[in-house]
Amino acid sequence: MSSSAETAASRPLRVAIIGAGPAGVYAADILSKSSEVKDGHLEVSIDLFEAYPAPYGLIRYGVAPDHPRIKGIVNALHKVLDRGDIRFFGNVTYGRDLTLHDFRSFYDAVIFSTGAIKDAELDIPGIELEGSYGGADFVSWYDGHPDVSREWPLEAKEIAVIGNGNVALDVARMLSKHADDLLVTEIPDNVYQGLKNSPVTDVHVFGRRGPAQVKFTPLELRELSHSNDVDIVLYPEDFEFDEASDEAIRSNNQIKTMVNTLTNWLVEEHAESEQPSSRRLHLHFLHSPVEVLSEDGSGKVSGIKFERMQLDGTGNAKGTGEFIEYPVQAVYRAIGYHGSALDELEYDARRGVIPNDGGRVLGADGKPVPGIYTTGWIKRGPVGLIGHTKGDALETIGFLLEDRLSLPPAETPDPQAIVDLLEERGIEYTTWEGWNRLDAHEAALGAQWTAENPDRGITRERVKVVPREDMIRISRG
Ligand code: NAP
Repeated sequence: MSSSAETAASRPLRVAIIGAGPAGVYAADILSKSSEVKDGHLEVSIDLFEAYPAPYGLIRYGVAPDHPRIKGIVNALHKVLDRGDIRFFGNVTYGRDLTLHDFRSFYDAVIFSTGAIKDAELDIPGIELEGSYGGADFVSWYDGHPDVSREWPLEAKEIAVIGNGNVALDVARMLSKHADDLLVTEIPDNVYQGLKNSPVTDVHVFGRRGPAQVKFTPLELRELSHSNDVDIVLYPEDFEFDEASDEAIRSNNQIKTMVNTLTNWLVEEHAESEQPSSRRLHLHFLHSPVEVLSEDGSGKVSGIKFERMQLDGTGNAKGTGEFIEYPVQAVYRAIGYHGSALDELEYDARRGVIPNDGGRVLGADGKPVPGIYTTGWIKRGPVGLIGHTKGDALETIGFLLEDRLSLPPAETPDPQAIVDLLEERGIEYTTWEGWNRLDAHEAALGAQWTAENPDRGITRERVKVVPREDMIRISRG
């Protein structure tokens, strides 16, 4: 085995990145463009692994289909992977197909960018009832995630969505929109059919604090009013502002814009005399969930109970002792994502992250584990927009480069060795060329739909392929 100092000098640094969402691709891009690499001090050879057969993680399986602007980030990520200096291995699951020991044998450093895809838990009675769902699971369904059921029970007329973040807005918008208005997007056929048959009339979004404490972003909030045949309904008694709210409105432009938007909607709603829409999206504030109800003992959701809250001066809310119930037949909690534990790594179960110091992964003794790094939501928790992940990657890559002379060198650094191992284990991995094939196939499905439905006047750029086996078959030619 060569010494680590010799390793860095005598051959390219071998780095594996696990998770090909934005966090992983940004890390790969930043590493490959770092000044050490550009100035020729260091050669790097990067392999990017992904558990799904396709790349782009959260952008493909987390961003709502009617958000083409955010989905467009894919174009930037595509350019990075299309340069040819980063190898892509899809359909390879860490901990099952390859172990930490495998990665350590083939690479000098491993970066975990596995994100967060599970729903945070909401510990209230009745949350387990039939008709109570995690928002993240619903997102996975409408985004055609290969590992979730093709069917989603959309039987409720009245629905509660808990949470005041952008995921709650996505879930509420997707539940309330008319399916035909989503045909311009890449939604798979099963999602279109499911939404088309939904009998929904009212979607209620509940925040536990006030209008100045929402976690939405202004663009995403304003977009709610663009849904065809969906009225937004607000309640004057929910418009409470304490000193901290006033300060937030003064000092934070985003909050100011959102409070203005909400207040304008409230005023317009009460002045309105237009024809009412067939669906309504209600925004409620100062409602803290207490219990999901099942009236008749059927085990099915029949309502939801909240405690009315009041602001305490600091922007936080406290209970008033007053309770209110709403009849709903489905409840979606969108109160945040939670990262999952990874084999052979420490895990902070409360925050759902890998314990780390600026991206250097920490062991049980609280010290950095040589050669192991993390970036993205599994590093810092599921907060922030996609672009924020770049800063994370910069920090992690900075530490990796700082450590490069002391990394435990790979025993088998030959880039072909990992390919041989995957083949030997019979793992049906997909490649960048394979993704290009699947990408072209999905675009062709869109073109086919457009040609077969000329009367609809809709151009579909893509229709997603959902079953994992189909994705693999098409990718592997
Ligand atoms: P989030 O922004 O953290 O919002 C979580 C919401 O859940 C907050 O309103 C929070 O209220 C509420 N909540 C938490 N625990 C609760 C409880 N026990 N009872 C009632 N309410 C509770 O999380 P997110 O919506 O999952 O979004 C995650 C990140 O992805 C965010 O940065 C978001 O902007 C981003 N994202 C962006 C887009 C986009 O279109 N740009 C789309 C989706 C997600 P408190 O504030 O009171 O804690």
